[in-house]
Formats: sequence, structure tokens, C-alpha cells
Amino acid sequence: MRIGLTGGIGSGKSAVAKLFEEFGAFVIDTDALAAEAAAPNTDGFLAIAHEWPEVVRYGMLDRAALAEIVFADRVARERLNAILHPHVRRLAAERERLARPGQPIVHVVPLLFETGYDRLVDRSVLVFAPEAARIARVVARDGIDEQGVRARMAAQLDPEQARARADAIIENDADPATLRARAHQVYDQVTGV
Ligand code: ADP
Repeated sequence: MRIGLTGGIGSGKSAVAKLFEEFGAFVIDTDALAAEAAAPNTDGFLAIAHEWPEVVRYGMLDRAALAEIVFADRVARERLNAILHPHVRRLAAERERLARPGQPIVHVVPLLFETGYDRLVDRSVLVFAPEAARIARVVARDGIDEQGVRARMAAQLDPEQARARADAIIENDADPATLRARAHQVYDQVTGV
């Protein structure tokens, strides 16, 4: 059983991923895999360095500088995704082998529907939070300003479109205890308990 977990920036998908792990899932974080796919001297790194030489500093990728470029430019974003996604999918398939037999596998994928990753999973779960809450949480978490959060939000699928496509939705508009209860209910639902 493969579950794709998604949600916009600041929606609470990392928080839900931690809960799903607690409930017994094997969690694969594709953001971490994307960083791995662009580690120095990998094919991903070389392709990115070729495309955007200005984001290489001291032989490493300046991820913040790269983020600034791709969040402001849809074509650049699609190019970066095209470079990284085959590597991310390969690394994710490798990770899956570490799951116990029968253990639900959760792929945390910020752009689940946009990249077609939803076709690789059996069920999709969307974490949804009101825009004001998302902005406040990301400003507090990452120290970027509201404008920076809005730029990142604009680069993602309209949450209403994601709502229409998800198999299950976790509303994250209350306190962490409520989130836990809702996540548990959805986890049981999508894993067929
Ligand atoms: P995402 O991974 O979707 O960007 P996170 O799970 O990191 O979002 O959540 C963003 C921030 O908001 C984190 O610091 C997280 O601890 C906090 N957070 C998430 N849900 C809640 C909630 N229901 N109440 C209070 N803080 C929350």
C-alpha cells in the first residue's frame, strides 16, 4: 500500500508525516531525496550546475539561491523538476525496499498532482490549512517574510484543485491534538483498517 501525502507549504504535511510514522507507516520524504539527488558530483548536481552556474558556491549548490530562481519562474521550475524527478523516483524506489512486508509506505510529495507522482501511489492524502495560518506558520518556521511565502504558494497547485483530486483530506485548521485525531482517522481509512 502506497500513500502519497501532499499539501501546500505550511499546510502541516511534515507534521502529518511524523504522525503517520508513529501510526506505523514507513515514510519517504521526497524533499530530502531531492537534496540527495542534487548532492555534489551527482548527475543531478551536474545538470543543475550546467543550467544555473550562478547557484554553485564553493562546489556546493546554494539551495536558497536556486529556490529564489525557480519560485519566480515557472519555466525554470519545470526544468528543475525535469532534472530531479527521475532521480527522486529512483531513490524513492530504493528506499521502499527498507519497509517491512505489509507496512504502509507514505511518500511525502509537495507537488504530488503537478508532477504526476500521484499515478505512482494507491491513495492520495491532502493536508489543507487556511492561507493565513500557513503564512504565519512558515514565517515562524523559516524566517522568510510573507511575500516569500506567497511566492512559494503561487508556485504550487491551487489548493482547491488539489482538494478535488485527493482521496482524503486532513483539515489542519485547529490545534495539534485535533490534527493528530484527524490524521489518525484518515490513516485508518486509507490503509483500510
Ligand atoms: P509543511 O511541511 O506542509 O510545510 P509543517 O508540517 O512543517 O508544514 O508545518 C508548518 C509549521 O507549522 C511547523 O512549524 C509546524 O510545527 C507548525 N504546525 C503545523 N500544524 C500546526 C497546528 N495544527 N498548530 C500549530 N502549529 C502547527
